[in-house]
Amino acid sequence: MAVKKMLEKVEEFDMDKVIEEFERLTKDAEGVQRETLKRILEENASAEYLQSLGLNGRTDPESFKSCIPLVTHKELEPFINRMIDGDASPILTGKPITAMSLSSGTTSGKQKYVPWNDELFETTLQIYHTAFAHRNREFPINGKALSFIYSSKHFKTKGGVTAGTATTNVFRNPGFKPSMKALKSSCCSPDEVIFGPDFHQSLYCHLLCGLIFREEVQLVSSTFAHSIIYAFRTFEQVWEELCADIREGVLNRSIVVPSIRTAMSKLLKPDPELANLIKRKCLGLSNWYGLIPELFPNAKYVYGIMTGSMEPYLKKLRHYAGVLPLVTSDYGSSEGWIATNVNPRVPPELATYAVLPQIGYFEFIPQSELEETKGDTSFLSVDPQTVGLTEVKIGEEYEIVITNPAGLYRYRLGDVVKVMGFHNSSPKLKFVRRNNLLLTINIDKNTENDLQLAVETASKLLAEEKVEVVDYTSHVDVSKEPGHYVIFWEINGEASEEALGECCNCLDKSFVDAGYTSSRKVNCIGPLELRVVRRGTFRKILDHYLALGNTGNQFKTPRCISPANTKVRQILCDNVVNNYFSVAFN
Ligand code: AMP
Repeated sequence: MAVKKMLEKVEEFDMDKVIEEFERLTKDAEGVQRETLKRILEENASAEYLQSLGLNGRTDPESFKSCIPLVTHKELEPFINRMIDGDASPILTGKPITAMSLSSGTTSGKQKYVPWNDELFETTLQIYHTAFAHRNREFPINGKALSFIYSSKHFKTKGGVTAGTATTNVFRNPGFKPSMKALKSSCCSPDEVIFGPDFHQSLYCHLLCGLIFREEVQLVSSTFAHSIIYAFRTFEQVWEELCADIREGVLNRSIVVPSIRTAMSKLLKPDPELANLIKRKCLGLSNWYGLIPELFPNAKYVYGIMTGSMEPYLKKLRHYAGVLPLVTSDYGSSEGWIATNVNPRVPPELATYAVLPQIGYFEFIPQSELEETKGDTSFLSVDPQTVGLTEVKIGEEYEIVITNPAGLYRYRLGDVVKVMGFHNSSPKLKFVRRNNLLLTINIDKNTENDLQLAVETASKLLAEEKVEVVDYTSHVDVSKEPGHYVIFWEINGEASEEALGECCNCLDKSFVDAGYTSSRKVNCIGPLELRVVRRGTFRKILDHYLALGNTGNQFKTPRCISPANTKVRQILCDNVVNNYFSVAFN
């Protein structure tokens, strides 16, 4: 769809209509799925990929499933590489794509290109509108948003194709700003800050803009919750500098990007009264509890993706948010959107995401099939069977398979979700985990959830010493027999040797998977090792990903570092200040 037409749609935005439309679509999710598949296959009928697999113009789900194999990124890479190299013939899509999205690589460990086009932008608007309409019904807003959003630069691949992260492709689309305006949540920071070349300078200025417009800010948000936590942890360190800038009306000298300086100078006027007020508020808080509502008295809620690998940050986020509700946003990926939160009052731990049946064609691989593949998402010689969107069963876990309007057909996303119920006939999903993040040495199998639970349990032992785990990750060390799990922790203070030793024992005991406990008992897996890393180590990991062309938006701390991820391993190992081994297992 042309951008102009999209903009007209934005102008027409009407919340009741959006909800009515969502109801209509989800009542006939199966019919809408058929239509969506038909539309995608018709629009891309001339694509070499579909033609070579013998689809011959058929658009029904049965023919589609019998002709087109399930794939992962690996199988599509040769096609995508030709597109990156500038081959504009219809390879995966009928029309040439408009850009490539570069995924963060923070979940899979490897950055991947996936095609992007206007149809994907349109699905982005559809999901934003649906989410907003449901959210605004519960928490009406009509003001500014302090949105920690960062757009990296577009760049050209060597074949001349425009590329950037998926969020960059969204933020740089001409339809994005008008759409945010229509959603009554325009960002309080100028474009120069959002589109600035340096994450840390943009973050500082986002905070400053938030303070300048503190009375108008009704919403504090980011794409993933990590950015909100990161922003307010930074605030704890730089609040005096922010106050000085407001007092003098002069931007801190460490902000050197000329376009940002010019834009900020238009907003910044000497305001000693505001500076004093913020100072009083900061000094009056106990350990920064309730910082967000204190700084932004009219904020209604805090918003962003808060499930999956973001859950470990919820405790800290609640601490900053005080009385404000935390609302988790949508579920999607660089490969396309999937579902949105239509019950915004539900806390993130219990949140589900209702699938929008018109934004892609979705299939689900049952967990039983996944077990046969041992969770391996690499290409399979035997295709697991899939079920359709309306055929999934409550209480079951599935891996999601996406067919999108930008050239991905039966693409295994690698995410495992659980069906928690239905919104009309469309399933409501709980994000469970990435399928490929596994701590395993022999018969043990621990997922990122198991790791999260273990860290949650063990970190409680630090509470007495008023120390928190800022961030964590893991890897398996098989360099010596027997192999063992290594957990890296960054903590925000001094903890006693005894407490950390106990944490290490507790981590070991908290992996309750039978494969792990039995292997530990007979010492086929060695004592677990807890390595405490220097303050700022996880910032170095973030900086490493930013240097690879990522934006702060899509950053997710990798929870399990693969052997191939040598750079991140190096950062971690170079910054270890202490290590502990668990005692013998019995
Ligand atoms: P990216 O490719 O960087 O856009 O990351 C997409 C991945 O982030 C998804 O495949 C999920 O693993 C994760 N993700 C996205 N949305 C959510 C969500 N609402 N809850 C949990 N994880 C999510």
